Amino acid sequence: MTKPLAFEVRDSAISGKGAFALRAIKKGERLIEYTGERIPHPVADARYDDDTMDEHHTFLFSVSSRTVIDATRDGNESRYINHSCDPNCESEVEKGRVYIFALRDIRKGEELHYDYAYERCGDETEKEVAQYRCRCGTKICRGSIMEPRADYEKRVRTAKRKKALARRERDKQKDRYGSSHSTRRSVSKAKKKASRR
Ligand SMILES: [Zn+2]
Repeated sequence: MTKPLAFEVRDSAISGKGAFALRAIKKGERLIEYTGERIPHPVADARYDDDTMDEHHTFLFSVSSRTVIDATRDGNESRYINHSCDPNCESEVEKGRVYIFALRDIRKGEELHYDYAYERCGDETEKEVAQYRCRCGTKICRGSIMEPRADYEKRVRTAKRKKALARRERDKQKDRYGSSHSTRRSVSKAKKKASRR
């Protein structure tokens, strides 16, 4: 697939560099694959430490609960597509690979963007919140490139329900040793997240 890119990378008013349509783009068009080195979450967390960085690492894309794409290594132009709270593109995972699609018709010259929806971990510090501040400037800007808080809360509720169910199942098995090793994994740092088909 050597179709020429539908966009070019140049300076953006939103943040650093951005991707701008070189021609009219049709709604639903697949624009580019989000590529990079595929690594497990803990490796990504170790590689980038929010606490010592002034800027968040916007080149990480969480593909699944296991895999993160680090676009700073072997990444392509897709990593320059900025975030917007009112985006004209979206990211989707198909068979473990991430693609950027046009969410609507896009005019030549328009900047492309999608909603990064960085996963919250629930205990973001003020510094982290500041690091993930959104500057998209749209009318519906939620002020953060993290996922909406309501999405996070919903995820937590679902996880709690699952956990409660699992606990009930375990109790039913009547483990007489009452082993209760914690199954909690350390929480990953925020990463981009795509919707799933
Ligand atoms: Zn915004």
